[in-house]
Amino acid sequence: MTNHETAPAYKARSGWNALLPERVPREEVPRQRRFRTIVVGAGYTGLAAARRLAELAPGEEVLLLDAATMGEGASGRNSGYLLINPGEPSANAAGFTADWAARQIALVQAGLDWLRQLVATHAIACDWQEDVPAITAAATAGGERTVRATRDRYLSWGIASKDYAAEELRRIFGTGYYRRGIQSLTRALVQPAALHRGLADSLPAAVTLVENTPVLALGNEASFTVRTSRGDFVADRLFLTNNLHARAFGLGGDRMVGIYTYGAFTPELDAATLERFGEAPQWGALPAHRMGSTLRKTMGRLLVRSGDSYERELEPDAARAMLTQLYRNRFPGLKSYAFEHVWGGLTAVTHNGAFLFGEVRPGLFVSAGCGGAGVTRGTIHGRLLAELAHGVPSQLLSDRLALDGPNWLPPEPLRGIGARAQIVWETWLAGAER
Ligand SMILES: Cc1cc2nc3c(=O)[nH]c(=O)nc-3n(C[C@H](O)[C@H](O)[C@H](O)COP(=O)(O)OP(=O)(O)OC[C@H]3O[C@@H](n4cnc5c(N)ncnc54)[C@H](O)[C@@H]3O)c2cc1C
Repeated sequence: MTNHETAPAYKARSGWNALLPERVPREEVPRQRRFRTIVVGAGYTGLAAARRLAELAPGEEVLLLDAATMGEGASGRNSGYLLINPGEPSANAAGFTADWAARQIALVQAGLDWLRQLVATHAIACDWQEDVPAITAAATAGGERTVRATRDRYLSWGIASKDYAAEELRRIFGTGYYRRGIQSLTRALVQPAALHRGLADSLPAAVTLVENTPVLALGNEASFTVRTSRGDFVADRLFLTNNLHARAFGLGGDRMVGIYTYGAFTPELDAATLERFGEAPQWGALPAHRMGSTLRKTMGRLLVRSGDSYERELEPDAARAMLTQLYRNRFPGLKSYAFEHVWGGLTAVTHNGAFLFGEVRPGLFVSAGCGGAGVTRGTIHGRLLAELAHGVPSQLLSDRLALDGPNWLPPEPLRGIGARAQIVWETWLAGAER
């Protein structure tokens, strides 16, 4: 059996989280050691599961443990796009059946709707925006074909969208790099670390969150013993929502791989400089190839997100050099800023994009395998997992249960050789979409 790390350990902190006031993490260890339910991992999935469990049974206490402080996990490291298109942002979903797409759209739409409601109810200050352009923009002939195919697919799936010609893109983004674009009219953009923290800080009273507390081992006798750096806890029911790191506890090791991707922020720019990055005060550009680059103009800065590495995080200097080059390719006439923040983030990738989801043994509930689009997808999966545990039926849960699980992956070294080769090949295919 491969030894997997029990929890993520990043080389640099999240740039989004670094823009927020320093957080005082919740580290108080409860005196009580026994809980009805323990949830391991407080990303979007775990937060949603814990919240929903407490809503469904307010009298039953839930212990929610996370290895990191809120805002520092992948949930606070992503690019803050909440999209409803199935598959990757490039919508390279060719071959997906209409049924599959309808189920995926229903799931992410429900995740988006719930998040919108929570942000409003709890006044979570996360810069939630639904009218900022978030355009899948093509820089190559191949990318243009993807954009056209995406438009056709959106039409057949009933997703309202808008097309953009090169000139409009130049006005919006301030660069002539892109040739054609499309955006779904339903989407939101957020400050992800602020959303993540806000969700954690508005949990129902029945949930006890303990940050900076990695779970090191699990025992499974009549009940579940959870070993942490702060002592052992016991529960009747266990939720594993620690995404890729479910592997460390024997789940999904033959279904998921870890792929790091990277983000960087310029320093804060003055108003005159910001105008040179297009007339829109804020915008988002998504790639027309899944190995392409995502950008945002937000928080008075430019964000660049790109790159993929298999199971190992790049050194920050290497990530910085890569992201600087991708920025220069797009804005050759503008000053090249030394990025103020550069960070890596880990995603769990399955071969067919499917999740590990359900009650895998009596009392052991898992949702893992969340790669891209995880803000909405993680949220709805966490919620449905809690509803599954409480036997709350819904069309959405039936739809979720009707989806396939992740495909089997060959063991190492074959797996690593295949994954690295695929990254090299697809990066080459992406060309200037990178
Ligand atoms: C750079 C980057 C950009 C991205 N951009 C987007 C985007 O724009 N939109 C989008 O929707 N998605 C995006 N994603 C993906 C998104 O961040 C993930 O899909 C999402 O965070 C998954 O949520 P999760 O709760 O399932 O897992 P995670 O966010 O990974 O949460 C799992 C949690 O479990 C904790 N944990 C792990 N092991 C243990 C343990 N042993 N004990 C206790 N706790 C543990 C971790 O600390 C972590 O907080 C991006 C990801 C990255 C890295």
